[in-house]
Amino acid sequence: MSKAQNTTIPTVKLLIGGEFVESRTTEWRDVVNPATQQVLARVPMATADELDAAVAAAKKAFASWKKTPIGARARIFLKYQQLIRENMKDVAAILTAEQGKTLPDAEGDVFRGLEVVEHAANVGTLQLGGLANNVATGVDTYTLLQPIGVCAGITPFNFPAMIPLWMFPMAIACGNTFVLKPSEQDPLSTMRLVELAVEAGIPPGVLNVVHGAVDVVNGICDHPDIKAVSFVGSTRVGTHVYNRASLSGKRAQCMMGAKNHVVVLPDAHKEQTLNALAGAGFGAAGQRCMASSVVVLVGAAAQWLPELVERARALKVNAGHEAGTDVGPVISRAAKARILELIEAGVQEGATLELDGREPQVPGYADGNFVAPTLFSGVKPGMRIYDEEIFGPVLCTMAVDSLDDAIALINANPNGNGTGVFTQSGAAARKFQEEIDVGQVGINVPIPVPVPLFSFTGSRASKLGDLGPYGQQVILFYTQTKTVTARWFDDGVAAPVNTTISLK
Ligand code: NAD
Repeated sequence: MSKAQNTTIPTVKLLIGGEFVESRTTEWRDVVNPATQQVLARVPMATADELDAAVAAAKKAFASWKKTPIGARARIFLKYQQLIRENMKDVAAILTAEQGKTLPDAEGDVFRGLEVVEHAANVGTLQLGGLANNVATGVDTYTLLQPIGVCAGITPFNFPAMIPLWMFPMAIACGNTFVLKPSEQDPLSTMRLVELAVEAGIPPGVLNVVHGAVDVVNGICDHPDIKAVSFVGSTRVGTHVYNRASLSGKRAQCMMGAKNHVVVLPDAHKEQTLNALAGAGFGAAGQRCMASSVVVLVGAAAQWLPELVERARALKVNAGHEAGTDVGPVISRAAKARILELIEAGVQEGATLELDGREPQVPGYADGNFVAPTLFSGVKPGMRIYDEEIFGPVLCTMAVDSLDDAIALINANPNGNGTGVFTQSGAAARKFQEEIDVGQVGINVPIPVPVPLFSFTGSRASKLGDLGPYGQQVILFYTQTKTVTARWFDDGVAAPVNTTISLK
């Protein structure tokens, strides 16, 4: 991290009280194109005063925003979805440059976030309370889902469009105000989306952005005026955020790391299954929290391994903006070094390296952080490549005898983000769905991320907090349920003193 600001490279601004402002910090970090190492921008590590100013702006704006009519809030998100659509290619190009994923995949990243914005425009029906008439004589009980105040979001590098859009649109549509802390590794596409949100009409102070890393995150966890924290990122950091934010009395929801197993039964449709596994294992260079990272081949499906290796070998590794690329670079040199170290550990610990992608040649991009598709067989619990999240284009495969063995293996793994089964047997799929202890299940679908009509429901070690992002669950996360029990007297006759609990 540098101490000085280089004036020839653009700086990433903070958003405080409706103004895009330059940070006064002395700590800056480069935003680097992972295919070329070109420095695209410098991002500030905001100061404690700047975080305070962002929270103060959000707190001030809450006073009026929470009273803004539902229709006015919803219309901003109708406008916002239109602006995102109009700027989709522009945002995707920025995203590919700073993150590395292919252009079509970057558009997918934006699109999955856009779906949440569309959903936020339906806040009127989502934020409805309930009413029970005549719970006692002349008494009604009803609920109000009221906004809670200043909420904050902390996001990871791997979906710089989708994950910020999981957070602030739903929180703000519910009547809260927001402080966003984007990933410091790729904040530029997030900032373009923030600019569009301001253009759509989000009033000053309702959405604020601070940049930074450890100190800003800890400052968010501790800040007395922030009421709720949404986090998406690694298990190590998410656990820290959950504990620290909870200690200071906040609501917290943390979506964290994963090891997603996909079970292949021998009756599965072979071509579709192998294509799905290659796409879900190596797409986005394996840097998806819902990537299929462990393939469990049941019985005779083990014979498909050589064809899976060939599918992986055929994928084209290149810079994300080049046409025809399947696998772009990983986010940083440090990430590449960590992935290579884990591959070496897999070899040392006795797994069979069926495909070695450690040193791909990518003409024109000799400095890129490329790792080509890599595939192990004979992987076992206890090996680091099984026990740790690799978060790179490395697929672990293992063979088991039965569906029961596959289910037992997955249920013994601490993670519970996503899983899948490939089969043509409805009975086997239903057994899997019933017995598997993982929060998101795909049946012949390798990456079962729910659309925003539902919520993201990772489980066990992949999640802390009971309510997930977007959908109906996040409405409950971003609101306080107030229950009102009301009686109106219409005859002016006073009821006698009643010392019992009954409301009859
Ligand atoms: P990360 O945990 O390193 O960073 C996430 C956020 O935490 C960033 O904003 C970062 O600035 C901040 N941070 C990093 N180190 C910190 C520290 N020591 N103290 C306080 N804050 C810190 O995660 P990442 O590498 O950006 O993202 C990849 C991880 O995110 C993977 O583990 C992946 O599985 C996970 N992820 C999970 C989901 C999900 O929905 N479950 C979705 C996407 C990514």
